[in-house]
Amino acid sequence: MRAMQLYAAGRKLRAVERALPVPGQGELLVEVAACGICRTDLHIADGELEASMPVVPGHEIVGRVAALGEGVDGWSIGDRVGVPWLGRPCGACSYCRSERENLCDDPLFTGFSRDGGFATHAIADADFCLPIPAGFGDVEAAPLLCAGLIGHRALEMAGEAQVVGLYGFGAAAHIVAQVAAWQGRRVHAFTRPGDSAGQAFARSLGCSWAGGSDEAPPEPLDAAILFAPVGALVPAALRQVRKGGRVICAGIHMSDIPSFPYADLWGERAILSVANLTRNDGRAFMALAQKAGLRTVTTPYPLEDAERAMDDVRAGRLEGAAVLVP
Ligand SMILES: [Zn+2]
Ligand SMILES: [Zn+2]
Repeated sequence: MRAMQLYAAGRKLRAVERALPVPGQGELLVEVAACGICRTDLHIADGELEASMPVVPGHEIVGRVAALGEGVDGWSIGDRVGVPWLGRPCGACSYCRSERENLCDDPLFTGFSRDGGFATHAIADADFCLPIPAGFGDVEAAPLLCAGLIGHRALEMAGEAQVVGLYGFGAAAHIVAQVAAWQGRRVHAFTRPGDSAGQAFARSLGCSWAGGSDEAPPEPLDAAILFAPVGALVPAALRQVRKGGRVICAGIHMSDIPSFPYADLWGERAILSVANLTRNDGRAFMALAQKAGLRTVTTPYPLEDAERAMDDVRAGRLEGAAVLVP
């Protein structure tokens, strides 16, 4: 098999060849058809998150089951399968025992603490793999597995919010905007100031207003979801949220949040973070993706061009999601 491996933060990915791994108890060997690039992969490569090195990044895997380990139930050779970020929670900690496996104290994460999908093959825990909705091609489905899924978990934290602001209009927001619009919410998109192409893209996906993150929307927000990893957006978003509203931080890493006056939080406004996913989130979102008729905008790259693809995501040079194809 071939893989793009990261040996140390701040270094380039290296192409490696190795023997096909053999799936263990409860595991699948997955032949990768596509793997999306998530901002978390950039945080790992840039050393903002400390992964177990060396590691093959990538946790938005769409592939086909190539071999089954002992004791696997529910999957057969050739099945199309999705492998998300949550690789395997411990199953024993207080979070796992209270249906909050997303907060597990001792989890394995795909492409972080176990090898991921920047490769031709990957090992995955059968119980944590997800079905892929039939209406999506392999490349189109890849961004559902983290951008869509974790974005949806963030949107659920917005509760009944009717007016939702999305800060940072990349892979996640371009999917969440469609979900929110489909649910009958009004969506306002905030891009980098001056990014008129990004704002037009947001409007094309159902956003009723799009502007720069330094602008005020046409109405106060019930909730704001932050996908951009920029701490300064937290107080900026708080100032656009009405009393009782929420600011939801959806990324795994963010630069430091600057101090702000308590008056901006006053009025029962809340700041929340979203961490990881549960199996139930995954299954629910895959069903919703089909039902809501979501579409994803993707730019495919050959696996060997992973470094260039990550640079393009870093610089915001593409619309929607970058996807590696082996
Ligand atoms: Zn991700
Ligand atoms: Zn646990």
